[in-house]
Amino acid sequence: MIELAFKDQVVIVTGSSSGIGRACAVHFGNNGAHVVVNYSSNAAEGQQVVDEIRSNGGTAILVKADVSKEEEVKALFSQTINEFGRLDILVSNAGLQKDAPFLEMTLEQWQKVIDVNLTGQFLACREAARQFIAQTKTTTETTHSELAVGKIVLMSSVHDVIPWAGHVNYAASKGGIMMFMKSISQELAPHKIRVNSVSPGAIKTPINQEVWSDPDKYKDLLQLIPYKRIGTAQDVAKAVAWLASDDSDYVNGETLYIDGGMTLYPEFADNG
Ligand code: NAD
Repeated sequence: MIELAFKDQVVIVTGSSSGIGRACAVHFGNNGAHVVVNYSSNAAEGQQVVDEIRSNGGTAILVKADVSKEEEVKALFSQTINEFGRLDILVSNAGLQKDAPFLEMTLEQWQKVIDVNLTGQFLACREAARQFIAQTKTTTETTHSELAVGKIVLMSSVHDVIPWAGHVNYAASKGGIMMFMKSISQELAPHKIRVNSVSPGAIKTPINQEVWSDPDKYKDLLQLIPYKRIGTAQDVAKAVAWLASDDSDYVNGETLYIDGGMTLYPEFADNG
């Protein structure tokens, strides 16, 4: 029998009722993990993800929490520990867009995106790191392990390096994730906690439906992608899984771009 890659590991995926988070949750569930599916507003969608994991033979629970609210994030982690007794992996994925031209952007639009995309990742990563460290103090088995005792994968975006007019709140939040990720990676590495991020390009999910569902906008989008296809949530989930696995044990503080080459300055492909 083939050993499943994440057998009996416990994983929280924030914002996993939809899109990339959903694909990550299902992938971990299909590979032996106990999955905590988190949603903030759509319980029915979250339940569908739990049902899919269970129908494939996996284990999953559904937990409501708004990642921008400290008490709700703490409750998400305590429910996880109550149910499964430990945590091995956090995929800090929840995020949103509130787009507006810079001159018209309201403080509410700015603040909402920073609260969810940046503060939400701070709160989730802090709870995960506290839990990983608490576990190593009580478990002799992992204290002496050569492998990481906890893994965190943050969801960034190509807009941590590509400026994005009309989306300055989003680009600022993802640029912030880059330095946040590197800094906590440096701080947590001595505890044998690995922290990395993935930066997707254009991935077909509800967040950008307005682009891929319009044939003209979709054609324009492909001009930005040397590989000439939009990404899938599964493309991202497989990279997240690798970063959360022991196969990447010596990878720490890195950003993996999953973008079909979007960050390769495609405008220069024919000499600019
Ligand atoms: P999506 O809209 O399908 O999923 C976003 C998820 O985040 C949803 O499950 C939503 O419920 C959840 N969420 C939103 N606010 C939340 C909150 N306050 N608390 C908890 N959960 C909350 O979009 P997606 O494309 O799957 O986006 C997932 C992540 O991937 C985001 O961080 C996004 O910035 C990032 N990303 C997406 C793309 C893309 O092209 N789709 C590209 C780069 C990065």
